[in-house]
Amino acid sequence: MKVIVLGGGVVGVTTAYYLARGGAQVTVIERQEGPALETSFANAGQVSPGYSTPWAAPGIPVKALKWMLQRHAPLAIRADGSLFQLQWMTQMLKNCTSTRYAVNKERMTRVAEYSRDCLRQLRADTGIEYDQRTLGTLQVFRTAKQLAAAQNDIAVLRECEVPFRELRADELPDIEPALAHAQGLVGGLHLPGDETGDCHQFTKQLAALARAAGVEFRFGTAVQRLITQGRHVTGVQLGQPGAADGETLEADRVVVALGCASRQLLTTLGLNLPVYPVKGYSLTVPIVHETLAPVSTVMDETYKVAVTRLGEHIRVGGMAELAGHDLRLNPRRRETLEMVTHGLFAGAGDLPDASFWTGLRPMTPDGTPVLGRAPGWDNLLVNTGHGTLGWTMACGSGKLVADLTLGRTPDIRTEGLGLDRYTNDSWSRPNDGRQSPIHA
Ligand SMILES: Cc1cc2nc3c(=O)[nH]c(=O)nc-3n(C[C@H](O)[C@H](O)[C@H](O)COP(=O)(O)OP(=O)(O)OC[C@H]3O[C@@H](n4cnc5c(N)ncnc54)[C@H](O)[C@@H]3O)c2cc1C
Repeated sequence: MKVIVLGGGVVGVTTAYYLARGGAQVTVIERQEGPALETSFANAGQVSPGYSTPWAAPGIPVKALKWMLQRHAPLAIRADGSLFQLQWMTQMLKNCTSTRYAVNKERMTRVAEYSRDCLRQLRADTGIEYDQRTLGTLQVFRTAKQLAAAQNDIAVLRECEVPFRELRADELPDIEPALAHAQGLVGGLHLPGDETGDCHQFTKQLAALARAAGVEFRFGTAVQRLITQGRHVTGVQLGQPGAADGETLEADRVVVALGCASRQLLTTLGLNLPVYPVKGYSLTVPIVHETLAPVSTVMDETYKVAVTRLGEHIRVGGMAELAGHDLRLNPRRRETLEMVTHGLFAGAGDLPDASFWTGLRPMTPDGTPVLGRAPGWDNLLVNTGHGTLGWTMACGSGKLVADLTLGRTPDIRTEGLGLDRYTNDSWSRPNDGRQSPIHA
């Protein structure tokens, strides 16, 4: 079976790897000159099933209004002039009820837990290395209100049997010794099953393994459009948008894993993929004092900033800007990342020497990715919309979508993961229909 995977970020490359292992003849189309050079390049490095939490949560609408007035706010909104931005935000607000939050968190946790298991298996199978550690995530709180709100997450963690430990302020250094010097923390939640690692390094290594297994990578090559016949995709047209048509590639199946560019491509087929580019920033800081640095990930709940140890560096990532496909670096965001790093791990890294980066998270309004068959199309599949957790969910999503592409039954339930949950005005109620696998 010939499969074309569109997109060579962490999601596209994991999909290609699992497809090749399943016996498919795979070609990956990627517009950049190598793998993981867009959103998968410098994310916060968390592989965090325990922290798989939708942004759409009870209390967020009120918090968002307050954040508008704060200098170091985790969220900023700038009108991008599109109706889609307003529709997306409306749908996100509809998901801010406790009922929807629980449904969405269960779906995200289901994919993320499976993904962590797939990653572990992949590591055992291949020996892949990417500055990984398996020391968990420590969420830290600065107010009693945050501690109380964490109880909702704890209820879902219990239900999903995810291990956790609640910590008093004086117990935080048991997990992260350098936090002994931090001020203003009232407690924390430790998720020992979480991992950390460099997503770019992982994707590069995995692309090399996939190539060795027969996957063809076409870097520096853009997909222009999908070629269709009835409800069937026959292939892809290469070439830059607006330029003359380039080469045409034929395929039996096509998987769309273009991150934030997926929506535009699928719109041409009449599909409404609710994936908005949510801009984030990161700093990569060289470590100068080992004992003052984090050993794993610390998630600062107040600023929604994650501080992660990656080899000889600290990766600090966070913030969400809803401002369209804008990749300009805003120096005020750097100030926030530096402030949080200094507050938690003063003296650990060389902040002036840090590299500053931005990326666009492909995000759905309910936080759950869109995995599986595109409704109405018999050989087109989607693997995107992973938002804040694309690294965490990549291996599981790649394996699941590869299984569906190959007509196999996935290892986990697919209920509520497909694009069909957004059709027929079903935004606000769970879709209990099990997705049927495509058969060859
Ligand atoms: C600041 C920040 C911190 C984050 N921290 C974490 C974290 O700690 N843990 C976590 O799990 N996730 C994190 N994420 C999210 C994670 O990085 C993303 O969800 C993930 O990288 C998305 O991967 P992707 O493969 O879907 O998208 P991408 O990596 O963007 O891949 C899509 C690819 O498609 C290619 N493409 C687009 N259009 C075309 C075209 N027309 N033709 C050919 N190729 C095309 C692009 O070049 C790109 O390489 C973070 C994100 C940000 C921004």
